[in-house]
Formats: sequence, C-alpha cells, structure tokens
Amino acid sequence: MDPRGTKRGAEKTEVAEPRNKLPRPAPSLPTDPALYSGPFPFYRRPSELGCFSLDAQRQYHGDARALRYYSPPPTNGPGPNFDLRDGYPDRYQPRDEEVQERLDHLLCWLLEHRGRLEGGPGWLAEAIVTWRGHLTKLLTTPYERQEGWQLAASRFQGTLYLSEVETPNARAQRLARPPLLRELMYMGYKFEQYMCADPSGEVNTNVAFCSVLRSRLGSHPLLFSGEVDCTDPQAPSTQPPTCYVELKTSKEMHSPGQWRSFYRHKLLKWWAQSFLPGVPNVVAGFRNPDGFVSSLKTFPTMKMFEYVRNDRDGWNPSVCMNFCAAFLSFAQSTVVQDDPRLVHLFSWEPGGPVTVSVHQDAPYAFLPIWYVEAMTQDLPSPPKTPSPK
Ligand code: GDP
Ligand code: MG
Repeated sequence: MDPRGTKRGAEKTEVAEPRNKLPRPAPSLPTDPALYSGPFPFYRRPSELGCFSLDAQRQYHGDARALRYYSPPPTNGPGPNFDLRDGYPDRYQPRDEEVQERLDHLLCWLLEHRGRLEGGPGWLAEAIVTWRGHLTKLLTTPYERQEGWQLAASRFQGTLYLSEVETPNARAQRLARPPLLRELMYMGYKFEQYMCADPSGEVNTNVAFCSVLRSRLGSHPLLFSGEVDCTDPQAPSTQPPTCYVELKTSKEMHSPGQWRSFYRHKLLKWWAQSFLPGVPNVVAGFRNPDGFVSSLKTFPTMKMFEYVRNDRDGWNPSVCMNFCAAFLSFAQSTVVQDDPRLVHLFSWEPGGPVTVSVHQDAPYAFLPIWYVEAMTQDLPSPPKTPSPK
C-alpha cells in the first residue's frame, strides 16, 4: 500500500494546482536539422494493403483499372525524343483544383476494408491515416526553405487522421500560377504518357491509381495511400510496391554546379516521396529548353543519399525520418480528445517551429459525416461457427 494513502493522480493534482495558474507555454515543435541527426529510426518495410483508381471523371473505383504499364523506349535504339509540349493545351484536361478532396478517397477505401485489415482488429485504432504526399512534406521539413504547410488532425475511434490544408500562400500562388508553370506541369504528365505507352491522346489528370500501404515509423503504425505512376511488368519482383516505378522530369544539366543543386534539392523530394511507399526506382527524363526529352536516367531510391553523403549542404535521411517521427509523437500527444469534429491545426513556416491551434467543425473539420456514421455502425460480425454438440 502507498504509505501516504494517496493515488498518484491525487498527489499530482495538489502539486499541479498552483502550476496550472501560470500561463502555459503553447506547445511547439522545432524543425532544425541539427536536432534530428540521430541514428535512422525503425521503418517497417511498406506492404500494400490494396489499391483504388480514380477515373476521368474523378470517380472512385475499388480496383486497379487506372494502373499503367512501364514501357520505356528500347535501349538499343536511337534514344528518346519526346516532345513534352505536344497536345498542350488542346488535349489537356486538368483536374479541378478548387475541389478539396481531403482524405475522402482514402476513407472510401478504408470503410470498405476496415473489417479485414491485417494486424488484428485493434490495429487501426493505434494507427495514423494520411496521404503519402503529406508524409513527404513532413520528411523534407527540416530542409525546406520556401514553402510552409498546414496539417489538420482529428482523432476518431482512436485513429489519428492527418489531412493537409492549403495555406493562404499556396492558394494565392496556385491562383496566380504563371502560364509557363502550367505548361511545365502538363509536360510532367505527358512524360508519363510516353513512358507508359498510354494510347489515349489526352492528358487527363483526374485519372489516378493509388496504392494503400501499411508501415510503421518508430512506434507509429501508418496507413497511407499514394498515387503510383506505373508498374514494371519486367521488374525482378512483380510484388507491389517493388514493381512500381515513379516517373519524373527535370531540366537538362550541363555543369557540375547544376548537378550538385539537383542532388541537394530535387533528389531529396524524390527520395522522400518514393522511400515512404517502398517504390524502388525513379526514372527521370531530362528535358531541354524546347521541352524535348532526349535522355533518361534511373535513380534507385536506396542509392539517392549517396549523391549527398559527403556534401556539407546535403540532406540526411535520418534527419527526415527522425523529424517525421517526432512530429507524429507531437501530434499524438497533442490531439487527446476523440472527436471527429475537433481539429488540431499544425502550422509551419520555414524558419520557425511547428505550432498548433484548435478548431471545431467548419471549415477545418475534414472527416465526412458519411464516414463517421458508417464507422459508428457495428461491424458485421464474422459468421459463427456452430459449437460442437
Ligand atoms: P503526392 O505524393 O504529392 O503526389 O500525393 P499523393 O500520392 O499522396 O496523392 C494523394 C492524392 O492527392 C491522390 O488522389 C492524388 O491524385 C492527389 N494529388 C496529388 N497531387 C495533388 C495536388 O497537387 N493537389 C491536390 N489537391 N491533390 C493532389
Ligand atoms: Mg511522377
């Protein structure tokens, strides 16, 4: 027995009482790389739980109909000569970026599969659910000097959901996007079409194939989804995600200084995006000023760090992953109340720490009523096996 006859909580209340009267410093999380340079944290080999597709009308389908096949030009031939501007703007149907989809398509998949997730019935209640792209932004935060982010977080039935909110800056930039940048975005999609022998003469960015993955970072179980460009039918393993290929375009480089800058900035983003889902290769097409791709280079995701390992101004995968783990711990300990209408908004701008504000309902609440209501219904119970007489 406790000789003082007090439970731990009761004793704490006495001591804590005067302290509660002091102004509590708002919690925040620093992002300085130097704070996160420990050993690489545990990261579970990502496994694919399933997939879904979005069609030309952005309608959800619980299958792989939008998955494309990697079919690069023959290596013995003359080399590529892709005109990335071909079809612009007349054969371009860009997705309506005013539509805020938040986690909806992923939640649609999750609703359908919640009853048969691996990891056991309690697994989801301990997990973090988000898009791969949101995790990518977390990974690169310690090195990012240009663009901030906001992540909305809600806890529901134990699970922590993270959904990005477009910052006022990002919105202003999107609405004022220069015509040349619009064309560059098209060119990236056009490259995918050339590399996938996609016969549709149209670039429609409503179409997407998304892989749903399970992993764990440190003590944080993760369920996230990411858009996958294509699968390589010739890959050494045809098992997803190791058969997947990420396609990128980049400016042709001519000087060692240009390559160095590419390794420091672009390769960091490419690494973060593909490492998370376990996509083993990124195939880059280098475009000249006229918008033609005449050379390709494959960057194995696990070798990207080698390009900056000896660079004082390079990036370090451990820093990225340790910061992400620290943010997830920060979010898990900040979002205590289980309430789908309550949002903790995590905000970050370069040069500062991650800060938090609290909101109820619109405009920040993001878990849709259809999801909350369906999840609140009892799961269909498994068929009862007749007990032996
Ligand atoms: P990425 O890693 O940034 O490409 O994003 P994800 O692979 O995590 O994609 C998540 C979902 O967001 C998919 O349905 C994508 O089609 C969609 N998506 C991808 N990029 C963007 C974007 O720039 N804006 C918006 N609103 N959605 C996007
Ligand atoms: Mg791509």
